[in-house]
Amino acid sequence: MKCILSLFFSIILNLSIAQISPIIPAPVVYKELNESLNFDGDLLVNFIGLSTNLQEQITHLATIYHGIQFSNFTSGPKLSFKKLENVIQDSYSINVTNEIVISFSSDASCYYAFISLMQLIENTSTGFQLKKCFVKDYPKFSWRGLHLDVSRHFFTVDEVKKYIDLMSIYKFNTFHWHLTDDQGWRIEIKSFPKLTEIGGWRDSTMNNHYSTKPRTYTRQKYGGYYTQEQIKEVVAYANSKFVTIVPEIEMPGHSRAALAAYPEYSCTGIQQGVEGLWGVFDDIFCSKEETILFLQKILDEVILLFPGKYIHIGGDEAPKTRWEKCKSCQKVMNENHLKNEHQLQSYFIQRMDKYLTEKGRKLIGWDEILEGGLSSNAAVMSWRGFEGGMEAASQEHEVVMSPGSHCYFDHYQGKGSNEPIAIGGFTPLEKVYEFNPIPNQLNKKYEPYILGGQANLWTEYIADFEKVQYMVYPRALALIQSLWCLEKPSFDEFKNVLIDKHLPFLKKMNVHYSKSIFSPKIEWKRTRKGVQFTIKSNQQGESYEVQSSEIRNNKISKMNFNVLQDECIEINRSEKDQINYTYGVRSKNDSSTTQFNIQATNSLGIPVKYITQPSASYNSGNLTLVDGQHGSLPWKRNEWIGFDTTEIDIEIDLLKKQKYNQLNVSFLSDEHSWIHFPERIEVFYLRKGKWKHCSRPVQFSYLQSEQVRSFQIELNKPTRNVLVKIKSLTTIPNGFPGAGHIPWTFIDEIEVVK
Ligand SMILES: [Zn+2]
Repeated sequence: MKCILSLFFSIILNLSIAQISPIIPAPVVYKELNESLNFDGDLLVNFIGLSTNLQEQITHLATIYHGIQFSNFTSGPKLSFKKLENVIQDSYSINVTNEIVISFSSDASCYYAFISLMQLIENTSTGFQLKKCFVKDYPKFSWRGLHLDVSRHFFTVDEVKKYIDLMSIYKFNTFHWHLTDDQGWRIEIKSFPKLTEIGGWRDSTMNNHYSTKPRTYTRQKYGGYYTQEQIKEVVAYANSKFVTIVPEIEMPGHSRAALAAYPEYSCTGIQQGVEGLWGVFDDIFCSKEETILFLQKILDEVILLFPGKYIHIGGDEAPKTRWEKCKSCQKVMNENHLKNEHQLQSYFIQRMDKYLTEKGRKLIGWDEILEGGLSSNAAVMSWRGFEGGMEAASQEHEVVMSPGSHCYFDHYQGKGSNEPIAIGGFTPLEKVYEFNPIPNQLNKKYEPYILGGQANLWTEYIADFEKVQYMVYPRALALIQSLWCLEKPSFDEFKNVLIDKHLPFLKKMNVHYSKSIFSPKIEWKRTRKGVQFTIKSNQQGESYEVQSSEIRNNKISKMNFNVLQDECIEINRSEKDQINYTYGVRSKNDSSTTQFNIQATNSLGIPVKYITQPSASYNSGNLTLVDGQHGSLPWKRNEWIGFDTTEIDIEIDLLKKQKYNQLNVSFLSDEHSWIHFPERIEVFYLRKGKWKHCSRPVQFSYLQSEQVRSFQIELNKPTRNVLVKIKSLTTIPNGFPGAGHIPWTFIDEIEVVK
């Protein structure tokens, strides 16, 4: 520490005011002078004291960034390396004067320092240039992770290496390799060869989105696996890039691929194939002793392949349906005095925890391992929000934060209609940037238990490596700012550096990154007569070509016009007939487009009051229900209003007393996400300050095959104020995921027509 500080203060005196660094993740200190160091091709490098691997990595980085050659003879500026002792873990500094000095504390920090140096260098017409500057840097968190699911879709050794290479260039240091799941077992286990011979292959794969009805399949053999030799090769490769691999072997749930190969370790013993459908399945590993020994034998081989400290055992989404009826499981419960199946899961995880601990390793699992009591030595990866992580940290367990709200890169990142299919959700770059692994509510004394954070990439809807890159980049660059920076720059500062420096680098590296941040963004507001929209963009001085069409009484009229950023376009309520508008917005700078439809009725943009508050996670404001845009499929978080209560009251104000014919309310059904149609709707009108029934309540039969259903209710009475009372099912019925819990009710949109 002393060493870095004295170096820092001696230089800071001569430097101008801090400026925004071109480095991502942004360093702790960046000070630049108004002078540059120029050179034309070679750097005179002194590698003395650096390991052979570091020399190779640095030479590789110099080539991929700038094609710079190292020379022992010619006259370029001198680049030298200096090892620091007794400084903060993985800290480094770069001092650029007429020469360049990199001071580093560990091989990883030397690698990171050189990456930062490469990001400082700019190409000029005659050679290279960098500002004379001083950089001091070290990471905030020790766990900076990216995950990849290779079970739902398989990725080759070369693709996995490319994934690791790119993450290491952005200073991620942990690769979570999700190797087993219901849809495929991907790691060779020599004691149990059928795991890959049978479990590595499925006969079919689901088409479209999970919620699409009816479901269809591609009936084709699909699969693959890594041999132990290939795994060793990937582990060595990652190690050379200062990335540790955390392998995940899922248990007791998500085990259908393993059970297809060895059905004797299930509760029923019934032979079933490897799954071609996504989701959560009732058949999981039985908790009997034979299964535990089988899994421990698998872990023996896994431990030999992966030298890192942590072994991930999953632990998530394990329905207890089979365990409740299984004689062997019930016997284990009796013998161990366990009160319920949650305690049985806890017992199961404890057995693995004890085993891994004895072998000198540490168990990590998804936050469900908290249920029924957290095993003594286990670390927790919090995915269902921050709560599980906070609970584990307050029990003094290590935690990695990976909440779905910020860290699930299988969610949509843009609203454009050209976004490729995703599992759902909406996690744009800005949302990822807000991520902080340490929640404000966490007691300070437990902060040291938060090791860091991680983004997860589940690949149900990601069949090829181009799409992997599309989903991860540039969101990973927003994430690393949260994991590395002591104080991260503002989002706008980050975005400018990203667009100026890093997207061009990703392009040069042939990374198929997403350009969603450039898509025109449409902002909606209520007006006195309806709604208006403004087109926003991340590019300065953008203008747009708008193609619009209007359908009124089956007559179409079309119009093309140009608009500038921040100009607004108004759409008025329709007093009489419904008017359908379609808008296509095309950016003149880069041709990115977005398209949307508006149905203007009597209720477009009217005031809406949520008497019952929607869930904070699914509340995009009170214009959403009356913005003329119907929630689309597959559903996205920002287009539907979600409630987790059984009674929902919403009041609307039609602004003048009139007789309206009918009110339409549309609901979403997605059983897998616990979203169900309601049971009953009642509509009331206001008369002399009292709510009166408009018509009889509308009841719904439970089972519906549609995903979206619009319910029509007669209004009949002259009114200005309307109260909509929605009654959901009290609990999700048996036979559906989440049975016994309160279902979600998702609404969009409410329309009133004459
Ligand atoms: Zn069992």
